Amino acid sequence: MTKRAYNFCAGPAALPEAVLQQAQKELLDWQSKGVSIMEMSHRSDEFVGVANQAEQDLRDLLSIPEHYKVLFMQGGASQQFAQIPLNFLPESSSADYIDTGIWSRKSIDEARRYGNINVAASAKKYDYFSIPGQNEWQLNKQAAYVHYTTNETIGGLQFDWIPESGDVPLVADMSSDILSRPVDVSRFGMIYAGAQKNIGPSGLVVAIVREDLLGKARASCPTMLDYKVAADNGSMYNTPPTFSWYLSGLVFKWLKEQGGVEGMAKLNFEKQRLLYEYIDKSDFYTNPISKSARSWMNIPFRLADARLEQAFLAGAQERALLNLQGHRSVGGMRASIYNAVPMAAVEALIDYMRAFEKEKA
Ligand code: PMP
Repeated sequence: MTKRAYNFCAGPAALPEAVLQQAQKELLDWQSKGVSIMEMSHRSDEFVGVANQAEQDLRDLLSIPEHYKVLFMQGGASQQFAQIPLNFLPESSSADYIDTGIWSRKSIDEARRYGNINVAASAKKYDYFSIPGQNEWQLNKQAAYVHYTTNETIGGLQFDWIPESGDVPLVADMSSDILSRPVDVSRFGMIYAGAQKNIGPSGLVVAIVREDLLGKARASCPTMLDYKVAADNGSMYNTPPTFSWYLSGLVFKWLKEQGGVEGMAKLNFEKQRLLYEYIDKSDFYTNPISKSARSWMNIPFRLADARLEQAFLAGAQERALLNLQGHRSVGGMRASIYNAVPMAAVEALIDYMRAFEKEKA
């Protein structure tokens, strides 16, 4: 048996060990077919069965209403930054965006290539440590849609509420918190998420799109980026990333066994509570985010003395606590504690943080 480390990577992130073991078991010979899942036609009954089951399990997990399509696409969440305006923003119209950090700003910069973008609220005035309340937003009732990022993976800022957008469709980047707790899908026009955090391996982006929003893409929208084309072809207009889709399906099954998103929410609540509680009690570690906007998934923290960062990371590595360095754009530390990161990992991290503080403080 190889000993697996505790992996706090922001993405591609830890996957459930049981899922990896199952994939390993079926790697050479999937269900006695004599070939692996990667070597099968995406149009075979076998693969279509795997794909449909994955979709159904995701529908069950998030209670996705019938009038939403579930799309499995490529290009990551970043491609959605362009695909969303190409599909939903007529050239003469404008869209509202909420700026809460690096990922929402990337979505804004990309959308600006396609049309008029109104930043209806920005966390900048709070140094990105807090989310402006909806009473501070300047929404446009004529907007084609409102876009926001439910969890800022780098900043560690997360919405614990769903904005009210009236008749304007709400579009959410849930790349780093989808499936971590229940969400009312019916409040959204569209939800999307890159797979490599809470869903499966990279190479896949999952979108949940309300049916009435389909079929309105610009004439110039590439065929491959038209959601209606994806929907009409069961996400198989071209060859999809079959292995990522299959593995995501195994993750959905695993999630169901863990009590679904309700089960995950209980566990994730406890994981983040323990870690923030420890950070807040300590004079050695700090997290700057206001309590109501703290992410359950990505917990950035700083050491009292930044010169100790390298020693902290080296010591963590020795204990097989991996990928705790913050994003290169902000520095410091960050612990990403997605669904597949067990409570034991969080406990081991806190034990190490305590020992390091004792030694260096
Ligand atoms: N949005 C968020 C919130 C993210 O965390 C990321 C990736 N870390 C992205 C978008 C971009 O995802 P991708 O690399 O799949 O394009």
